[in-house]
Amino acid sequence: MNAVAVVAVDAPYEPDGRFSYLVPSALRPKVVPGVRVVVPFGRRRLEGIVLDVATAMEAAGGRLLRPILEVLDDEPPFTPELVRLAVHLVETRLIPPYRLLLSMLPPAVKTEERRLIRWNGDDGPIIALPEEAEVLEWIRDRGPVALEAILRRFPEAGPIVDDFLERGWLAEARVRKPRGRTKTVRFAVPNAAAPALREAAASLRGIRQRAVLETLAERGPTPVAELLRLTGASRSSLEALVDAGWIRLEARPLSRRPEVDAAWRRPTVELTDDQKAAVRAIEGALDGGDRRPILLHGVTGSGKTEVYLAAIEATLARGRTALLLVPEIALTPMMLARVEQRFGDRVAILHSGLGAGERHDEWQRIRRGEASVVVGARSAVFAPLADIGLIVLDEEHEASYKQEETPRYHAREIARWRAAHHGAVFVLGSATPSVESYALARAGRYRLVTLPRRVGSARLPDVRVVDLRKEGGGLLSRPLREAIEERLRRGEQVILLQNRRGYAPVMLCRRCGRAIECPHCAVTLTYHRADGALRCHYCGYEQPMVDRCPFCGSPHLIPLGGGTQRVEEALLHSFPEARVLRMDRDTTGRRGAHAELLGRFLRGEADILVGTQMIAKGLDIPRVTLVGIVLADARLGFPDFRAAERTFQLVTQVAGRAGRGELPGEVIVQTYMPDHPSIRAAVTGDVAAFFAAEIAARKKGAYPPYYRLAVVQADARDARVAREALGAVTERLRMAVVPETIVVGPAPAPIPKLRDRFRFHTLIKYKQEPELASKIRRALREIERPVRRQEVAVTVDFDPETLF
Ligand code: ADP
Ligand code: ZN
Ligand code: ZN
Repeated sequence: MNAVAVVAVDAPYEPDGRFSYLVPSALRPKVVPGVRVVVPFGRRRLEGIVLDVATAMEAAGGRLLRPILEVLDDEPPFTPELVRLAVHLVETRLIPPYRLLLSMLPPAVKTEERRLIRWNGDDGPIIALPEEAEVLEWIRDRGPVALEAILRRFPEAGPIVDDFLERGWLAEARVRKPRGRTKTVRFAVPNAAAPALREAAASLRGIRQRAVLETLAERGPTPVAELLRLTGASRSSLEALVDAGWIRLEARPLSRRPEVDAAWRRPTVELTDDQKAAVRAIEGALDGGDRRPILLHGVTGSGKTEVYLAAIEATLARGRTALLLVPEIALTPMMLARVEQRFGDRVAILHSGLGAGERHDEWQRIRRGEASVVVGARSAVFAPLADIGLIVLDEEHEASYKQEETPRYHAREIARWRAAHHGAVFVLGSATPSVESYALARAGRYRLVTLPRRVGSARLPDVRVVDLRKEGGGLLSRPLREAIEERLRRGEQVILLQNRRGYAPVMLCRRCGRAIECPHCAVTLTYHRADGALRCHYCGYEQPMVDRCPFCGSPHLIPLGGGTQRVEEALLHSFPEARVLRMDRDTTGRRGAHAELLGRFLRGEADILVGTQMIAKGLDIPRVTLVGIVLADARLGFPDFRAAERTFQLVTQVAGRAGRGELPGEVIVQTYMPDHPSIRAAVTGDVAAFFAAEIAARKKGAYPPYYRLAVVQADARDARVAREALGAVTERLRMAVVPETIVVGPAPAPIPKLRDRFRFHTLIKYKQEPELASKIRRALREIERPVRRQEVAVTVDFDPETLF
């Protein structure tokens, strides 16, 4: 009987992306869920991933299926669990399964197809233009040659090669290979146990050979090169030991482990009573007590990290594995050093700062079961761990857990699914929980565990508000300048937050009142003074700074607002002696730059650290006694239902960087809106008050947690095309949803034009909407043709983190 496989195919514009293929009997043993295959698709050959295999009797329909052409893996890189997760996400979230699964792999495990082109014999006349003949001859003279090599020599030759392939003058072979490989190293491995080796060593005459056996008895298998260096033995004496049967030589995978900066290590601590209670709650859940997810609400500096580490230890002690997720920007060398210090080689680290080789090796160690603790940022939520006992989501409120491009998944949601799948304990930690999680805890769906105090003698910092409506002084008000000066005098350190990079976000013409905009997006260009450029922070467009208004020619252009560069300038102006470090996307682009800057600040090589939100998270530097927030309300003007929540979180988190050691801390918050509930709550540290105000606003606006959201967005080069396409989809949707569901749109998106494409949104607000994903999928059929022709693009975002 024939077998049929359901394959996730790399086909863009297919909202489902699952297709059935026949499994040829020769390939039958290798086709199992999770392997990569090559399948025919239209006239192309595409890579796919097997999701399921069934016998033909069960397979739907009597259609003639095409066969799988090739199987790319001997062992599936995806575990059955992760394949099931992909199926779940396409069915509930319309996330294309191929793209999702592929994004789980480190780049070096992905395969790459190379087209080898060769001359196909001499028969038949060849009628070609001279420049075509040149390409042909070049290929003939070289034998099989990679297409890239041809295109390097003849950049325009792509269509010529295709044409000749079709005529049969050229032939091609396609080969696939992984982009990276596991490196191996030769190891010397003893063939006997340590006592027998020592005994044998004693009986040997050569002192070098004796040293070899003694070293191996002590250290176990050792890389050959290292062994030779340690003992001074030669290769031939090693071979003599092989011949005598004492040892063997073996290639073993070498893991390129990421380096960790030991300066961040801390002595082991005795847990406080609050911490112990939190760990006990987690242990109880591990042992099958209250299995609800745990929301660990601990103020900044309350020692959440130690709770996570103890919980991981408890999990390992029970023979299970643990996953610790932290936001990319909180994945500081500090966090890594602490985890590494505690768990050594049992830890695998996954984050974007690693080199391709390191990432590949860490991932392989997890897949092979050699690592039982994984620490990583968003995409580490897909780490192929088996038997997970604990998943910790640190800073669970962080927006960066949501991936804002295809595949649009939320790590919190994936973590919850995987925890349920494994029967694992799910811990969400934060000093500023998301409104949704807090609401779930209030409703008893999450178990709330709190750490209300800072550890030891550290106390929460005093917070002072500077009302910018009364206080002048530009970016740095007088009270802030005085406070900085005091710290400089005492040799203490200062952190300043300005959540905007560049020099000024707006260049305004004083005469005509217009601002310089990006030619491709409906946003203003940011002035970067450091290199005299105007840049679009959305599409990357840049041009040199102009000295006249592009609209009226006036020379009176004024920079409005201040980014980190302008704050840095103001600091250097007021405190010419101060050593200032700036940390934002512009200064941390290089790999390792982030860790390097933080390390310099930790070692006291700078007095003031100025930066965007990347300085707000997780930093624990004892000599920081002042935190200044240059403009706390910067985000409150955004048309975004989460603006207040984000403001509260950012101000609270950055304020939490002050006074974490022996020295007391102070926070200065500059704002034009001192009475706004989220500023007031952040100043008083009153989460409950913030929550009460915010939840009322959410109820009124029909936003989460009262309603769930989904956004359908259409974009096209022509505004009318985008609006009409979304109009058709929206109309279908309105008919499909239940009466309580609110459908708003189509309306121009908050940024109505991006990268030369006009964008429209439809917002779906619902409480209970069964089969919403299928309803949206069916509605999208209205525009199947323009989407396939690439006249319009659609994205669907479930539970958006932002509408902006
Ligand atoms: P949070 O993540 O809650 O803001 P951290 O985990 O960074 O807090 O802990 C704050 C500081 O307190 C760190 O320097 C940490 O080493 C220290 N710390 C944590 N627990 C203890 C403890 N039980 N005893 C002493 N110091 C502790
Ligand atoms: Zn002008
Ligand atoms: Zn732009």
